[in-house]
Amino acid sequence: MVARTHRCISIDVPPAALIARSLVPADDLPAASHATALAINPVLDLATLSEAASPPQSLSIGLGQHVPTGLDLYLGWAGGCGAVATKPMTDDHWDTSSVFGAAASAVLGASALFRLAHGQPVRDARLNPIELSADLTAGTRDHPGPVEIGSVLTVGAGAVASGAAYWARELGITGEPWDFVDGDIVELHNTNRCLTMTAAHAGWADGSPSGKPVSKAEATAWVVDGCSHEEWYEQWLIEHQERHDLVLCLANERGVRPFVTQRGEPLLLHATTSPQWTAELHRHLPSRDDCPACRLPDTRTAKPMCASGPVSLGQPDSPDAALPFLSAAAGLLLVAALAELPRGVLQAEPRNHWQLDLTFAERLFRSHRWQPSGQCPHTQPRSIRRMIQREDPRRWDHLDTATDGTSGG
Ligand SMILES: [Zn+2]
Repeated sequence: MVARTHRCISIDVPPAALIARSLVPADDLPAASHATALAINPVLDLATLSEAASPPQSLSIGLGQHVPTGLDLYLGWAGGCGAVATKPMTDDHWDTSSVFGAAASAVLGASALFRLAHGQPVRDARLNPIELSADLTAGTRDHPGPVEIGSVLTVGAGAVASGAAYWARELGITGEPWDFVDGDIVELHNTNRCLTMTAAHAGWADGSPSGKPVSKAEATAWVVDGCSHEEWYEQWLIEHQERHDLVLCLANERGVRPFVTQRGEPLLLHATTSPQWTAELHRHLPSRDDCPACRLPDTRTAKPMCASGPVSLGQPDSPDAALPFLSAAAGLLLVAALAELPRGVLQAEPRNHWQLDLTFAERLFRSHRWQPSGQCPHTQPRSIRRMIQREDPRRWDHLDTATDGTSGG
C-alpha cells in the first residue's frame, strides 16, 4: 500500500524466509518486498537502508517485534487484532500465526502514514475485522483457516474486489474457482488503489506504455486462481443463468445494484469506500434488511472514484488522492465476513452496516441498522425467491427463511 501512494521509499527487511504469498515470484522476504514495490511502481525511488541513510524529514514505520525505537509509527498484531501506535509496542503485540491481525495493522499503518505525510493527526488504534470491533472492545479472535463458502460470483473487479481477492489469497480458498465479471480494462492509475494490480497489468511493466493492458477481471482473478470474464454483468448474464452459492456485488456503475438484487439471492454481501475516508461492509438478507439498490441508490451523476478522497478532509482546497488503504480495508472487512459466514454470526446480527473510519476519529468503528422498505421495487417477492432457489438450490438458501412482510409474495 505504501508503494502505491508514496514515491520515495527506503526499506530495511531482515533476511527471512517468505511465508506469505508474494505478488511477484521471489526467494525470500527482502527480495519479495523489493520486487513487489517495483512491480507496483517501476519508477519508484526505492532504496534499502544498507545503501543509504533515510533522507531528512522522512517518516518511518516499524513492522513487528525487532524494530528500533524513535520511529514515527509501529505496527503490531495479536490473533485477529491489528494495532498501530506512535510508541513501540510490548512483545505480545506480534504473532506470526495471525492472519487478520496482520492485515488489519497493515491497513491502519498505511492510513496513518499517509495522514502523517500530509500533516494530519493520528492516534493509537486497534481493529479486529473478524469481531467487527475496534480500540478498547477489540479482542484477539482470529480466523486462521481458508475461506469455505462455496462458489462465488464477484460482480465488479475494481478496487474493493481487488482488495478482497488479495486478502482471500493469503487465507486460501476452498472449492470452485471464483468468477469475476467486469468489462473494464486496467489503467495505470488503477495500480494506486487495487491491491492485486501491478504496472504490468496496465501495460507499463518497464515504466513506459509498451505492453498490452489486461482486463480488471483478469488482474484481480489471478491471485485466487479465479475465472475472469471481460464483460459487463448484464451482457455476461445472458449466457450464465446458473446460480452461485454467494454473490458479491462490488460494482457501482451501469445500474448493477438493482440487477443483482433482482436475482432473488438469499444473501448479498458487499463493501464500499467513501470520500469521507470510510470503508464499509453491507449485509442484505431480503427478508430482514433493505436491498443494495435502496441503500446505495444509483444517482446517475458523476461519482467519486472508488478508494479516493480529499487528502485533507474538511479543507475545501484539498486535492483528491487515491487512498489504497480504503479499498484494502473494505476488501478486508468483506473477506472477514466471508470467512465467518459458516459460523453464522454475521447473519444473526441485528445490525447490517458497518463503517470503519480511517481518519482515526474518536469512534473508529460504527454500525447501523437499515430497515427494509415496504416500497422496494428491486427485491423479488418471497414466492419468486423460493421458486428461483428451488430450481437451482445453493448453499446459503436456508438463510432466506423468515416470513416476508416487506415485499408481498
Ligand atoms: Zn430496494
